[in-house]
Amino acid sequence: MSAWLSLEDAIEQASSHIQPIVKTETISLVQAHGRIIAKSIVSPVDVPPWNNSAMDGYAIKLSGNESSNTRQVSQTIYAGSKEHQTVTDNQCARIMTGAPMPSGADTVVMQENVIRTEDSIEFTQPPVLGENIRPKSGDIALGDELVAIGHQILPQDIMLMSSIGLANIEVYKKPKVAVIATGDELAEPGTERGDHQIFESHRGGLAAKLEALGCDVTDAGLVKDDKDTIVNVFTSLSQTHDMVISSGGVSVGDADWVKPALSSLGSLHLWKVAIKPGKPFAFGQFGHCYFCGLPGNPVSAFVTFDQIVTPLLGVLKNQAINSKPLTLKATLTSPFKRRAGRKEFARGVYRQNENGQLEVSLLKKQGSSVMTSLTNANCYVIIPIESESLSSGASVDIQPFSLT
Ligand code: AMP
Ligand code: MG
Repeated sequence: MSAWLSLEDAIEQASSHIQPIVKTETISLVQAHGRIIAKSIVSPVDVPPWNNSAMDGYAIKLSGNESSNTRQVSQTIYAGSKEHQTVTDNQCARIMTGAPMPSGADTVVMQENVIRTEDSIEFTQPPVLGENIRPKSGDIALGDELVAIGHQILPQDIMLMSSIGLANIEVYKKPKVAVIATGDELAEPGTERGDHQIFESHRGGLAAKLEALGCDVTDAGLVKDDKDTIVNVFTSLSQTHDMVISSGGVSVGDADWVKPALSSLGSLHLWKVAIKPGKPFAFGQFGHCYFCGLPGNPVSAFVTFDQIVTPLLGVLKNQAINSKPLTLKATLTSPFKRRAGRKEFARGVYRQNENGQLEVSLLKKQGSSVMTSLTNANCYVIIPIESESLSSGASVDIQPFSLT
């Protein structure tokens, strides 16, 4: 039996260990983009609060007066007008979009459908009873539940909550996440690199992804390949963070100290997932702090972040709909061969052909250390665990890269 967990089992097992954040805070609505609702939003008002005009036009009383096609203009009502008089049978009110309907009126005729003289109008086509009125509570009724607990706030939600008069809302606190990179060979970008070194490339990109996912990020720097050092760093970060994410040192090399450090401190819940790239992913916890050990190769770190860490953060954040990445069908433009056994996240370029269908081509260089396979691509091409070969013209699943 394979010792590797499937991606789906790994996510499920790791999720089962995660206690979602319970602390909440009240924040200003205009700063709430991306945050998770902690208390459901029930409307205290009707929207709109009263019947109002959907058009610039004329409010009339049509019922009972269908035979007459002229009206005297008796008043003007603007959006924001406080007062109006009752509209009688032969009268009409000049009315603007959003203005309250005057009593007596049951229909609004759009101004394009009348001929206006000094103080009267004539219809150029018969009005329809009730047209061009936005009814009271037509959008939202007092008592409607509008936003459920666990919803991640989008710009349109901010508009919706503003429309019912809210200025502050209660959300879950952001997860505090620390990022470290392990490796004696790593030099900080911007510093002098020794001949034996390479530049550290992961922390900045991972921090950017974490920010986009609504986390409070600490860049905890570079860490040497030394068990005691790693233990000390984990211990101190675990006091003040909900999650620590490391890259490197989690495989089977003689300097791979992340797993032993984690096991000696807390619990290693899982290690090795049947995906490519990214097999040596590790997940564990020390106290209330969760730990994700990403492999050191850059593409492996990126893929495991997207495919495993992102859904786990959804659980930690209390996101109710832990949305899976959007998956689309595309036609492969060239054949592909490999050894089966892992679900592969190959990198490719998709485009819409002349017929509007999606086509995808795989990048030639697919190595887990080939960072340009991420920057030259615009999607993952998912090769199922059991597939050994795919022919040109095969239908494959793709996941467009996030644009944030
Ligand atoms: P490891 O998982 O530590 O064995 O690392 C695998 C490969 O990724 C090695 O070639 C490392 O030098 C490289 N690597 C690990 N971490 C980083 C990093 N933060 N930045 C750039 N390369 C890295
Ligand atoms: Mg290493």
